[in-house]
Amino acid sequence: MADLSSHVGLIVGVANKRSIAWAIAQAAAAQGASLVLTHQGERLEENVRELSATLPKVIVAPCDVTSDEQMDAVFAEIERAHGRLDFVVHGAAFAQREDLAAPFTQTSREGFRVALDVSAYSLIALARRAAPLMERNGGGSILTLTYLGSERVFTNYNVMGVAKAALEASVRYLASDLGPKGIRVNAISAGPIKTLAAAGISGFSGILQTYRDRAPLRRTVETAEVADAAMFLLGPAGRAVTAEVLMVDGGFHAMGI
Ligand code: NAP
Repeated sequence: MADLSSHVGLIVGVANKRSIAWAIAQAAAAQGASLVLTHQGERLEENVRELSATLPKVIVAPCDVTSDEQMDAVFAEIERAHGRLDFVVHGAAFAQREDLAAPFTQTSREGFRVALDVSAYSLIALARRAAPLMERNGGGSILTLTYLGSERVFTNYNVMGVAKAALEASVRYLASDLGPKGIRVNAISAGPIKTLAAAGISGFSGILQTYRDRAPLRRTVETAEVADAAMFLLGPAGRAVTAEVLMVDGGFHAMGI
């Protein structure tokens, strides 16, 4: 496994113990990383603080990714506390419930804006702030989480599929921009996992069952398995990998009829 003992990582997107970002935080902490975990507003602050208390070397800070001020404050805190940043995990995504439930043609202008802002633009905003801190130590690794709904149509995924397509394209453009500074940018495309975000997609249980029936591994994936793949991309073993979307979905993406 990766030795992250001298590394400082920012992890955005922990809501509760089922969050993919939480599994990544646990794996990174187990490899010795110092972490900064964020929460959106006060609603989930207690959750994130309780979870963080189970790990060593964690700072908790508020960060709504739609707020430039809050993002600036988090990076100021990282600068003050650590003076360096080695990796960022971006696990924030949101779409209004009505834009996930209604036919895609009914997607509102505001719903489209919100989904793309929270779920895709936020990666660019984080990367821009992370780059100077990473560059100082010769580079870093930025990782986001995506889903196959970016390329294929999944019932009720709708505007989130469009947001994920923008996110994956952003991974490639960011990787191109930041590669000369030694900063890698990648995504993991995870198979479906029952989390808070997934609860917003009606028919999600049916999607899970389809993976169990049709994925080459005949099962769904667990957050710990996504976290193991994240350790590869965040740590030294992934040092030549950038601009990549790594499928961690039991092979489902390869299947036709
Ligand atoms: P999750 O636990 O609900 O995590 C989503 C996170 O996004 C939550 O912490 C949520 O915070 C945060 N978020 C939403 N709006 C935000 C904002 N404005 N500012 C900051 N944070 C915000 O669900 P998850 O499944 O682990 O999702 C993590 C990532 O994995 C997402 O990008 C998701 O699309 C992706 N993914 C999930 C699956 C799956 O099946 N679960 C599969 C592939 C990819 P609040 O709860 O406070 O809003």
